Amino acid sequence: MTQTASADLITETGVMKRSHYSMIINGKRVDSRSGEVFDTYNPAKGEVLATVAKASEEDAEKAVQAAREAFDHGKWRKYPVGKRSRVLNEIAAIMRKRFKELVEVEVLNSGKSVGAAQVQINQSIEDFEFYAGAIVGHRGHVNNMPNGFFNYTHKEPVGVCAQIIPWNYPLMMAAWKIAPAIAAGCSVVVKPASLTPITALILNEICHEAGVPEGVVNTIPGSGSVIGDYLVTHKDVNKVAFTGSTPTGKDIMAKASSTLKRTTLELGGKSPNIVFADADMEAAVAGSLFGIYFNTGQSCEARSRMFVHEDIYDEFMEQFIEKTEKLQLGDPFDKGTHLGSIISRDQLEVIDGYVQSAKKEGATIATGGKEKKIEGFENGHWYEPTVITNVTPDMKAVREEIFGPVVVVEKFSDEKDAIKRANDTEYGLGSAIWTTNQARATRVAHQIEAGIVMVNCPFSAFPGTPFGGYKESGYGRELCVETLDLYMEDKSVLSYYGAKPLNPFGV
Ligand code: NAD
Repeated sequence: MTQTASADLITETGVMKRSHYSMIINGKRVDSRSGEVFDTYNPAKGEVLATVAKASEEDAEKAVQAAREAFDHGKWRKYPVGKRSRVLNEIAAIMRKRFKELVEVEVLNSGKSVGAAQVQINQSIEDFEFYAGAIVGHRGHVNNMPNGFFNYTHKEPVGVCAQIIPWNYPLMMAAWKIAPAIAAGCSVVVKPASLTPITALILNEICHEAGVPEGVVNTIPGSGSVIGDYLVTHKDVNKVAFTGSTPTGKDIMAKASSTLKRTTLELGGKSPNIVFADADMEAAVAGSLFGIYFNTGQSCEARSRMFVHEDIYDEFMEQFIEKTEKLQLGDPFDKGTHLGSIISRDQLEVIDGYVQSAKKEGATIATGGKEKKIEGFENGHWYEPTVITNVTPDMKAVREEIFGPVVVVEKFSDEKDAIKRANDTEYGLGSAIWTTNQARATRVAHQIEAGIVMVNCPFSAFPGTPFGGYKESGYGRELCVETLDLYMEDKSVLSYYGAKPLNPFGV
């Protein structure tokens, strides 16, 4: 891989960090033809971290053509599946070697706590290992046919895929997309979020180091509305895999329809967390805390609507609020930090806007509810973990995705009531149920309109668990074996083996 002169390396805490990151197109670090760059920030400090090449439409075109060439005439899709699998395992091995660097850069660019970053980078590594295994066993099948006919389903990679990534899990979202796509034999053009482009660029370099041929993975940071749009409407792009907000997802779906591209949409959420009276109180409090505050609440499956049974409401809320107030905000590199910073000033203002609107509509801010100043991080973007009670289902803060450390809490009286309220949302991504009654857990799990149900479990996913939404949370499932089919076409090959030639017209 060639390195441009602008990509000078500096060392910080023993880990290599650059002051400039180029795009990666066709296996090379390149800067934008226009020379345009943008700043990417450390949101915990509100400081510029590095400059990043800003892709223009012309650069996006080059990336698409590199991916097209690699797909149409390259060797990657023709490799025996075992060889692709070995390369994916090699990507994982290099990521493990560079674990410290990936964690450090992710923390610096996203402001998340080091503990959260470690979990997410580790999962990203495991994603490559998972798909290295899954692709080997992923095959077509022979179908039952009338005598004389033989039919099999042949799985083929779908082609060039545009993969558009959000800022909340920068590397993990890139891994969720790149790993199954290249395992299936596709070529990809990745568009990371402008706020957090760095680890996706590093991952692209690791792919090359591991043996992915040039042009198979390309990464072009830049404006969503310019190059995102360009990719979504490009005739040489066969599929768009998007993770981001529901409004952008709707826009992408409409635009992709002009060329009937395959689409996968992983969108927003407003996930319910239901605590029944028979829940194990300690586990429910701890799991509910994690459910909303993990990743500083900037999580698509954050359990941001809490429903607590009236019989245990007071006891549960006392513990929940007490523990919320004990959560540590501060230096993201401090191992004791639970919540990192908010990604940007704009996002902080969005969060605060929801809190203020809830207050105006008559809700109670039980704890938190304002920006927090952290010593040594005065210019960063920090918000107190916030609990809002006395809400009604029509409030803006109850209905819309806040995407910050803010939970709204309602009381419920019985199981039917809890299910009805949990489903009273246009979203359907995650959900959590806390109960010691197994029959109830199953009954409720089957009635919740969401792609993911966590039963007495704070975690939403591991490599292998399907991840995706119902309703306006999108469609398609990532992180699982079935994801491979989203990057493949099923071709039916039908042949006739009878001795007597067929003459259907009889002429
Ligand atoms: P966003 O929709 O603003 O941006 C996501 C990506 O799309 C970015 O790379 C952005 O540059 C790009 N983009 C913006 N406009 C575009 C356009 N017109 N055409 C093409 N691309 C465009 O979302 P965000 O603020 O980066 O991320 C937060 C959102 O992501 C939240 O709603 C969250 O729930 C969602 N999310 C969902 C999942 C999931 O798996 N369901 C996971 C993580 C985040």
